[in-house]
Amino acid sequence: MSAMLDVIVAGGGPAGAALGTLLAGQGRTVMLFEKTAAAQDKMCGEFFSEEGARYLAALGVDLRVLGAVTIDRVRLAARDVLAECALPFPGLSLPRRIVDECLLQRASESGVAVVRGTSVEQLTGAPGEWRVRLSDGAEQTSKDAFVATGKYDLRGRKRNGGSQNDLVAFKMYFRLSAEQEQHLRGWVELILFPGGYAGLQLVGEGCANLSLLLTKSELKRSAAEWDRVLTHAMTSSAHLASRLAGATQLRSRPITLSSIPYGYRRTATEDGPWYLGDQGAVMPSFTGDGMSIALHSAFLAADAYRHGVTARAYQALLARQLKRPVRFGTALSRCMVSIPALAQALRLYPGAMAWIASWTRVPSHFVKIRAFFLLLGIPGGACSGVFIAENAHRCTSPAIHLQEKCSVTVNVLRRTPHFTAVQEISDGDRNDSATGKNPATLHPTDRRGQEGFAGDAFTCFDV
Ligand SMILES: Cc1cc2nc3c(=O)[nH]c(=O)nc-3n(C[C@H](O)[C@H](O)[C@H](O)COP(=O)(O)OP(=O)(O)OC[C@H]3O[C@@H](n4cnc5c(N)ncnc54)[C@H](O)[C@@H]3O)c2cc1C
Repeated sequence: MSAMLDVIVAGGGPAGAALGTLLAGQGRTVMLFEKTAAAQDKMCGEFFSEEGARYLAALGVDLRVLGAVTIDRVRLAARDVLAECALPFPGLSLPRRIVDECLLQRASESGVAVVRGTSVEQLTGAPGEWRVRLSDGAEQTSKDAFVATGKYDLRGRKRNGGSQNDLVAFKMYFRLSAEQEQHLRGWVELILFPGGYAGLQLVGEGCANLSLLLTKSELKRSAAEWDRVLTHAMTSSAHLASRLAGATQLRSRPITLSSIPYGYRRTATEDGPWYLGDQGAVMPSFTGDGMSIALHSAFLAADAYRHGVTARAYQALLARQLKRPVRFGTALSRCMVSIPALAQALRLYPGAMAWIASWTRVPSHFVKIRAFFLLLGIPGGACSGVFIAENAHRCTSPAIHLQEKCSVTVNVLRRTPHFTAVQEISDGDRNDSATGKNPATLHPTDRRGQEGFAGDAFTCFDV
């Protein structure tokens, strides 16, 4: 066993790799264990929402440079097309085997000791001295421990089942016919069929990702065979059948995953390890926001850690931030499986899909707060972002990552019933006067009036 580290991270998906990079940037000694030895395909629809792409850019990972394709429209289909509309934000898609490797590479370049092909078997201890037992029999100790093992629980640290946990996932890559590829370009399609739903989109030239979810009872009827599952979906949806006509499967077998705890949110942690990504909350896949949540949790945890916030306070804040999107997303996911006829209503209001997409995102409350300001007549048009220091003893706001170099000023706006303080960052041209009756005490490290650069994270604490 080597010397005690500052931090051990279990799992090198988006959450773990992002967190490792951020903590190494704070000067911590970080060791990250990732069970896969090399790049591989992962269970995921591979849709990156705008927030996710921004967080990645802040880490130096540019999805477009890596070859991502743009997705800016959504189509809902059952037997036939029900509704189409533009997404309220542009999304990107790219295979996870590319993105995850790039993130691990960034972690390594930032000084994280990335250990591949080694699983964390067990995590024991308490803050100050954690001990991990590894798959090769070795042990390692650290002052703090972060769990980012995604879909897999560490022994003795199982998540509860979530509120929708009877779905099994399949993922397959297809080469579509040239005509169908052309029809799919720029679209993410959500296809409903009895007992499940699927997402279909291009993830690169000549490659479409079909990620399909099916209830366990429906899976039994298909004798748990991929060919029969696919036939069931295609016979129920003429739309899917036409998309896949003449298509070639690009993997010999699908990737599968069972018992996904959709709707799970870890509302508390004994002042123990920090849980990130899917270990913190599990968003239904149709929202395409799981990776953004994973990255968001990493940025939030890194900010909290830097300021000495406890794991317990971080976990409570993350759970609160995700309450609405996860609950809403899971309720919709349940409706899609059990009462798919409800989706027919979207024929009448296709634009509602854009609204749904906004409400199932993090940090979607920015949108709400911005609307709130506008209602109050407080101009917000030139804002680069809004900070929220929530009503908690000591907690962090979501980190904002500025897209371009700009000078920023932080202005306290006002106390609201839900938030102790709201700070607006406006660009340097505008100089909103502080109108708050109860100005927040800003943490000494705040950047009031200072210049911000791409990727800068600003954190305000209510202390
Ligand atoms: C069917 C389906 C479709 C989805 N589609 C989308 C989508 O289109 N867009 C989107 O944003 N999200 C999507 N998601 C959700 C998204 O995949 C997850 O939310 C996201 O991957 C979570 O990131 P993470 O870092 O927490 O975990 P993961 O990405 O699961 O990464 C965890 C890492 O930990 C490693 N690991 C596991 N156990 C151990 C261990 N004991 N020791 C060491 N390493 C370990 C794993 O190998 C893995 O690399 C989808 C999910 C499903 C099931």
